[in-house]
Amino acid sequence: MPLRVHVSQELAIDSSLHYFDISISPLFNDKRSKSRGAVAIFHDITEHKKTEKVRMDFVANASHELKTPVTSVKGYLDIIKMKADPEDSDLKMAFEVIDKNIFRLNRLVSDLLDLSKIESSDEIEKEVIHVQELTENILGELNSQWKSKDHDIETIFEIESLPANRDYIEQTLINLIENAIKYCPEKSKIRIRWCNSESGYCLSVKDNGPGIESYHQGRLFERFYRVRDEESQQTQGTGLGLSIVRHAMQKQGGYVDLKSTPGLGTDFVCMFPR
Ligand code: ADP
Repeated sequence: MPLRVHVSQELAIDSSLHYFDISISPLFNDKRSKSRGAVAIFHDITEHKKTEKVRMDFVANASHELKTPVTSVKGYLDIIKMKADPEDSDLKMAFEVIDKNIFRLNRLVSDLLDLSKIESSDEIEKEVIHVQELTENILGELNSQWKSKDHDIETIFEIESLPANRDYIEQTLINLIENAIKYCPEKSKIRIRWCNSESGYCLSVKDNGPGIESYHQGRLFERFYRVRDEESQQTQGTGLGLSIVRHAMQKQGGYVDLKSTPGLGTDFVCMFPR
């Protein structure tokens, strides 16, 4: 018998909805041979839920509102570039800086939109996903990125398929493979393995890149968290990729974890429920 159970429950009190985190523990007699009942602690998290909702709505609205002006600025910049003097080196440098920043802003807005869509979704649809087809399609899309760094990518398929949400599993795989490609030096080894484990279906994206110091590992899945070392600084990113992975896995009833040794590499492991 489990010693303690945690549940989250919505309850209507005086016609308004309250949210509770409830911990229930059994009470035993002196010899612990017989249960005498149970004690339940109700923690009212309604206020916390409300502020979470305000934050989520704000992020969703702000990123949605930013998308149109960013697209428009990018379009007009392309027109100005076509009309500008190609010999003007100052202008050329200014365009490069603007291009880089628009790319970054665009990425930030679309990552924020993805994250808020995942966070606010209540019910998700699952379908049978064929893992080899999914992986090969994604590697095809990322072809120019990993070929330009001459990485050696190995794929292992010990399962054929699993039930999952197509958008979330695609986003998870893209973000993990893109990170391995980005953060590993040229000619690194990346291994993508799908397998069965005691706790469910498992995806592992493992590389022999720089690894991550244990100090950072606990915070890596937080929004906007980036490792501030020299190499990561040179790599473009928003710090939202792993946060998207964590939410996408949680919404599917699974989780993501990592094992990493500085200097030896990193293994991101995603566990999907059976
Ligand atoms: P982003 O890549 O946009 O910065 P992520 O949330 O995807 O954001 O990753 C957070 C940080 O984790 C990165 O800034 C990087 O320092 C580190 N990281 C992620 N994947 C790897 C990897 N495979 N190897 C080394 N460091 C990694």
